[in-house]
Amino acid sequence: MNSSTKSAIIIGGGIIGCSIALELSLAGIRCALIDKGALNQEASTAAAGMLGAQVETHHPGPFYQLCRLSQALYREWSIKLLTIGGISPQYIAEGILRAALTPEDESELQSRLSWIEDAEWFSAREMRVREQAITPDVLGGLYLRRDHQVHPIHLAQSLTAALHKLDCEIREWTPALSLIERGGHIRGVRTTDGELFADHIILSAGAWGSALTEPFGLSLPLFPVKGQCISLKTAAPVIRSTVFFKECYVVPKEDGTMIVGATQEEAGFDKRCHASVIGSLHTSASRLIPELEHAEFVRTWAGLRPGTRDGLPYIGRPAALPGLITATGHYRNGILLAPATGRLIKQLVLDEQPDMDLGAFAPDRVRSAAEHLM
Ligand SMILES: Cc1cc2nc3c(=O)[nH]c(=O)nc-3n(C[C@H](O)[C@H](O)[C@H](O)COP(=O)(O)OP(=O)(O)OC[C@H]3O[C@@H](n4cnc5c(N)ncnc54)[C@H](O)[C@@H]3O)c2cc1C
Repeated sequence: MNSSTKSAIIIGGGIIGCSIALELSLAGIRCALIDKGALNQEASTAAAGMLGAQVETHHPGPFYQLCRLSQALYREWSIKLLTIGGISPQYIAEGILRAALTPEDESELQSRLSWIEDAEWFSAREMRVREQAITPDVLGGLYLRRDHQVHPIHLAQSLTAALHKLDCEIREWTPALSLIERGGHIRGVRTTDGELFADHIILSAGAWGSALTEPFGLSLPLFPVKGQCISLKTAAPVIRSTVFFKECYVVPKEDGTMIVGATQEEAGFDKRCHASVIGSLHTSASRLIPELEHAEFVRTWAGLRPGTRDGLPYIGRPAALPGLITATGHYRNGILLAPATGRLIKQLVLDEQPDMDLGAFAPDRVRSAAEHLM
């Protein structure tokens, strides 16, 4: 590495931090990825792995554009990860069936057809031709052929293996305690392991991100949104596409298990699972796919999504904190948004034109909006 090589510290080793470290390492930036615990033990491995650009957006706009950008990158990104690190993220190119079981749901889903791309309306019969296991009570639904999926645990392993191959410095069990400011710029991070300095400091600490910016007057409103999930197994696979309705989704994995999720609870940083919630997830899944009533129970878990009040992530450079770049607040879609986020942050670091306008995701948008009202 020559002395002119630029360096970056990435705070938070979830899928977002790992994706950023990957893109920067490939661009020749010397990276240190630090985490308060082991890599990928929070939201990122609690996820179901849907790449749901269509199923997750309810209106057109910058968020939909960001989701589509990432979705378009995914297949090649997965191949790149496999090539570098030797582990597959288990990309499955099957779409999502978003089923309507009530007339209200049916009309809400049909209203999306006016703007959503690559969506097809399926009658009840077509839904059941595609997936015989869906309840006969289905009224119809959207077939979202591009909403593929990966396995988040395999994705995490695949990213970690690639980062090792690229000689990214990984510092686990090293919490960032505070940012270090020198001459009006954020230059480093104070950790339990001492002070670290780099040319670029990138904050990708998921639901925990705001604690580090608040002392510098940057409010980055973030809050944990708990999602509880269960995993089930049947003697033989009953579905091949992901099936989704208002109450839950069922995502079939390569190993024959199905992830059923997920609740949305604002319960602070509490990751406990509750029997009553797990019971109702199973009831909902069995309503959608009756054969699941007698499925084998595999396991249960919960994770904390990094939520923001307007549902948009914070991707960009806060004007008030030169030297810092934020990439957090990906809420329900961080697995989907990982490749685009890594790529956009790399473009910011290299002063390249980003693939899309990041104005809607500006980290200081809340403060700017508040100032505007004064
Ligand atoms: C139940 C559930 C289902 C989901 N399903 C999907 C899905 O199907 N598709 C999809 O796209 N998304 C899904 N998501 C959302 C997705 O998981 C998140 O958006 C994504 O994981 C966020 O990634 P992240 O790296 O920002 O956060 P995290 O994975 O939470 O990582 C943040 C990291 O920062 C570290 N950290 C925090 N503070 C510090 C500090 N001070 N110093 C050092 N390190 C620190 C943490 O230890 C952690 O490792 C789901 C989430 C849940 C909970």
